[in-house]
Amino acid sequence: MTVDLRSDTVTKPTPGMLEAMWSAKVGDDVFGEDETVNALEEKAAAMFGMEAGIYCPSGTMTNQIAIKCFTQPLDELIADQTAHVYRYEGGGIAFNSGVSTRLLNGYRGIITAEMVEPEINAENIHYPRTSLVVLENTVNKGGGSCYTLADIKPIADLCCAKGLKLHLDGARIFNALAHTGDKAVDYGAYFNGVSVCLSKGLGAPVGSVLLADKETIKYARRIRKVLGGGMRQAGFLAAAAIYALDHHVERLKIDHKHAQILAEELAKKDWVTNVLPAETNIVLFDTLEPAETVLAKLEAKGIKAMSTGSHRIRFVLHLDVHAEQVEYVVASL
Ligand SMILES: *Cc1c(COP(=O)(O)O)cnc(C)c1O
Repeated sequence: MTVDLRSDTVTKPTPGMLEAMWSAKVGDDVFGEDETVNALEEKAAAMFGMEAGIYCPSGTMTNQIAIKCFTQPLDELIADQTAHVYRYEGGGIAFNSGVSTRLLNGYRGIITAEMVEPEINAENIHYPRTSLVVLENTVNKGGGSCYTLADIKPIADLCCAKGLKLHLDGARIFNALAHTGDKAVDYGAYFNGVSVCLSKGLGAPVGSVLLADKETIKYARRIRKVLGGGMRQAGFLAAAAIYALDHHVERLKIDHKHAQILAEELAKKDWVTNVLPAETNIVLFDTLEPAETVLAKLEAKGIKAMSTGSHRIRFVLHLDVHAEQVEYVVASL
C-alpha cells in the first residue's frame, strides 16, 4: 500500500469532479466571458460575505495580489514569523509590492491584538508606514492551528481603529471552520481580503480565489494580468472548484479525525519526542532520530511524508487518504 501524507495538494480529481469539469460551460475569462469562472467567483464571495471575487492560478498569487492591493511601496505589513506570505512565497512581498515585513512571535503562528499594537509604526519619516496585517487560518507551519472569529475580532477592531487593512491567508480556512464551528459568511465583516485555496484539502486540481469589495477586485484584475495570471477557458478548472465547494467541505471532519488517530498513535511511540495537538488535518511531530532517517523508514513502507525541521515530520491528511490507509499507517508506525 502507498499513502501520501506529504501535503493536501497531492489529491487527484474524483470521478464526480472530472464529470463536472468535462461538462463545464466556458468562455474567455480575460474578456470576463467564462460563465463558470464568474459563477465560482460569485459563489465564493457570497459564502464569505464579500462583494466580489477573482479566480487565480495559485494561493501565492491571491495572497500577493491582496498585498499589492492593500499597500503602497515603502509600506510595512505585520505577520507572524511562520506566515506563508513571508516564508514560502519566494520573497514576493518585497519583489511585487516593495513592502517590508514586521514579524511577530505568535503561539503556533497565532497572534493577538496585544502583539500587533506595539509593532504599528508611529507617523515618522524614519519608519515605514504600517498598512496591513496578514493572518493565516489555519496556520500551516503551526501544524494546522486555528483562530476562532472571537480571536480575530480584537485584531480586526485594532486594524479598523488604526486604519490598517486586514488580509486572511485562508489556504485552509474550511479546515478552521470545521474545527471552530464559525460560519464562513461572518468572515466578510472582519477582513478586507480573504484568500481561499481550492487545491488544498478541498481537492480541486488548480486555483485559489481572492475575495474583497468590488473596487479592490477591479484593481486585483489588473494585478493578476500583470503577473501573467489571466487564464482563458479557465472554467474547466473553476468547475472542479465549484464541485469541491459543493461536495468536499463537509468531509474535512474525516481528515481531522484521521489526524487525531495518527497523533494519538504517535504519542505512544518511544521514538517520538513530541506531538503537537492535531486540531485540523496536519500532524507535526518531533523524532529522536533525524527526520530524514525516519522518513526513509516510512518510505520503505510506502508512506510518504515531509520534514519541516531537522527532527520534525509533518503528516497531512486529505481526501485521498482513506480509513484503510490510516489503519495501515497506524500498524506501520
Ligand atoms: C498552500 C498555501 C498557500 C498557497 O499556495 P499555492 O501553492 O501557491 O497555491 C498559501 N498559504 C498557505 C498557508 C498555504 O498552505
